[in-house]
Amino acid sequence: VTRPRLIAGNWKMHMLAAEARRLAADVATAAAARPSVQVAVFPAYTALAAVREALAGSRVFLGAQACHEADHGAHTGEVSAPMLADAGVSIVLCGHSERRAAGESDASVGKRARAALRSRLRPLVCVGETLAERDAGQTDAVLARQFAAAFADVAAPELDAIDLAYEPVWAIGTGRTATPETAAAAHASLRALLVGKFGAAGRGPRILYGGSVKAGNAAELLAAPDVGGLLVGGASLDAAQFRPIVESVQEPST
Ligand code: PEP
Repeated sequence: VTRPRLIAGNWKMHMLAAEARRLAADVATAAAARPSVQVAVFPAYTALAAVREALAGSRVFLGAQACHEADHGAHTGEVSAPMLADAGVSIVLCGHSERRAAGESDASVGKRARAALRSRLRPLVCVGETLAERDAGQTDAVLARQFAAAFADVAAPELDAIDLAYEPVWAIGTGRTATPETAAAAHASLRALLVGKFGAAGRGPRILYGGSVKAGNAAELLAAPDVGGLLVGGASLDAAQFRPIVESVQEPST
């Protein structure tokens, strides 16, 4: 069974509750017009309740931008996977590059993915190299290191509940998108890592591309081999930009 394409909107540290509610309603309308596509939005924690209400009865999944590795404890300012599940979240980013830059280690990303799975949240594990790493020819080594840590404690049957996103750091928020060929090469490396570790089950997870996706480049990126969806930051904050990205999905993933 091939999974439908996933178009995910990472709202980062934007949107007060009232704006988030309006945007979520517009995303729900866009998603209703494309029943073969899965759509998810990742609001800030403070807008989760408003967005949950706005998405009620819609096809859009409610996501969170991170979760802590522990279920509860003395971790001031953190939010746990059980709390997110309780708030109606069903999918959570693990290891977004902005979180890694703020100090999340490879090993911590793996623990956070495990915490998500424990709470029946779907981890969307983000990996990707910096420009310096790409220029030094280390892209595959970085992807292998991040993958190994993130999937260290994952068992093959759990892959049904996991997806990945390839997000080259040099493409995030820079307006510099990877070419379809560059994305496809990285996706092929990640697929080889999945199949190498998990065998046939490694064919299951979607690998999303993320990094300066816009309406104008979404279709060509989705047409590249093994691009199972898109993780969109800046262009997900405006329904007029996000809707055509959702609509650029033409057919189910193969
Ligand atoms: C992201 O935040 O995951 C992202 C890809 O951002 P942008 O689309 O703005 O590059």
